[in-house]
Amino acid sequence: MRRPTRRHLTVATALVAATTAAVAVTTAAGAFDGKEQAKHAIQGGKAKNVILLIGDGMGDSEITLARDYSVGANGRLNMDKFPLTGAYTTYAVHADGTPDYVTDSAASGSGWATGVKTVNGRISKTPGADKPVRTLLELAQRNGYATGNVTTSELTDATPAVLASHATDRSCQGPADMAKCPADTIAAGGPGSIAEQEVAHKVDVLFGGGKQRFDQKVTDGRYKGLTVGQQAQRLGYQIVTDDASMKAAKPGRPVLGLFAPVNVPTEWTGRTAAVGGTDPQRCVTSNPNRPATTPSLADSATKAIQLLEAKQKANRSKQGFFLQIEGASIDKQDHAADPCGQIGETVAFDRAVKVARDYAAKHPDTLVVTTADHGHTSQIVPLEATPPGLSSTLITDEGQQLKVNYSTNTPGQSQEHTGTEVRIAAQGPQAYRVLGVTNQTDLFTTVREALRLR
Ligand SMILES: [Zn+2]
Repeated sequence: MRRPTRRHLTVATALVAATTAAVAVTTAAGAFDGKEQAKHAIQGGKAKNVILLIGDGMGDSEITLARDYSVGANGRLNMDKFPLTGAYTTYAVHADGTPDYVTDSAASGSGWATGVKTVNGRISKTPGADKPVRTLLELAQRNGYATGNVTTSELTDATPAVLASHATDRSCQGPADMAKCPADTIAAGGPGSIAEQEVAHKVDVLFGGGKQRFDQKVTDGRYKGLTVGQQAQRLGYQIVTDDASMKAAKPGRPVLGLFAPVNVPTEWTGRTAAVGGTDPQRCVTSNPNRPATTPSLADSATKAIQLLEAKQKANRSKQGFFLQIEGASIDKQDHAADPCGQIGETVAFDRAVKVARDYAAKHPDTLVVTTADHGHTSQIVPLEATPPGLSSTLITDEGQQLKVNYSTNTPGQSQEHTGTEVRIAAQGPQAYRVLGVTNQTDLFTTVREALRLR
C-alpha cells in the first residue's frame, strides 16, 4: 500500500499528527502536562522576532554526548526543553539538481537561508547557473527588521556567510581569497569577498572570529586600499574585539565584533581520540589557550539581542529582529576527533539556547528554532567495542565511562560529516512547522511565514 505523503495530508490531519508528536516529546521530558503543553505550543500568527540557533554538525549523537557528559543520561539540556521537535533532511544537490547525500555547511546553510538547495561549497547561489538567491536576512532587512549574525567560527565561514553574502565558493572569505570566485570579484562587477559583502549589507550585529579576513585590503572599487575593517568603519560600524568592548558597545550604530584572528578558541580541551582508544579522561573545562577576554557565545547572544531590541525601540518599529546564532566548533572539533573540545562547544551552545529561551519567556512573540546544519562523525559505542578508527573513553560528570568513536574517515584524515537527518526544535509563532519530517529548505518558509517576509 502506498502511504500518503506529508504533502497530501490536509491541514487538520497534519495538526492532529503534529499534536501527537509533540505530546510524545513533552511527556518524555516529564516536566509538562504533555497534551496541554502541546496544544498551547501549536500556534500560528506572526512573530515579532526570530532567533535561529544552529549547532554546526550537531546531530543526535553530538547532542546525546553533551547530555550524557554534562547533565547525565536522564538529564535534559536546554535544547531538549522545546515543546515541539521534529527532524529534517539535510542533503545537498549536484549542479543538475540530483541529490548529493552528504552536505557541507555552505550548501545546507544556503538551504534554509534561501529555500533553494545548492551544491557543496556554494554560498546562497543556485547550483547550476550560479545566480544569487535572496536570503532570509536580506528579506528581513527589506521588511524593516533589525538583523544579527553571531558565530564562534570566522564570521566569513559558511554558516554566517549564507545570510549576508553570495559566493561561488565558500573559500572566498576575504579580498585576498578570491581564486575560486572570479565572477564575484569587484573587478569583474561582482559583490566582492564574503567579508566585504557582510559589512556592505550593514547587518546590525556581526559577532565572531576571523579578524584576519577583515585585515585584508580591498583590491578594487570605492574602498580600494582600505582594509575590510576600515571599510566597515566608513559604513558606520563600531568595531569591538573582546568581551569588555563588546559589552560596552552602545546601540545607534552597527557593531562588528572580531574576537579572534581565525576561529574563536574552544571552551574545553582534552586528549583527542586515538587509534586503539585513550585512557579514561575527564575534560579540562577551561582551555588555557582561550584568552580570558574572549566572550562566551551566551554573552555574545545576550548582547546581540540587547542591541537589536534597542535599535528597534529607538526606531519605534513594530518589527523586531532576526538573529542567527551559531555554535560552529562542534563541527570543527568533530572533524578533529576531539571529544572534549566538541562537547564543550555543545555545552556552550546550549547556554546560548538558554539565553534565547529566557528572552522568549518574556517575549512570547519570539520564534526560537534550534537545529543543526548536518550530522557528524561521533558515535557512542559500547566500552567493549574495539573500533578500527579513532576512539576515546571519557568519564562523565555522573562518574560513568563513555566511549566515543570517530570512524568516518581514515585516522589522520579529517573525520567527515554524515548524511543523516537532524533534530529541529522550536517554540513560538509558527513553531509547529518543524514537526514531522521536513526538508531543510522548509526552515526558510517557517521563518519567512513567521516574520511575514514579502
Ligand atoms: Zn564540517
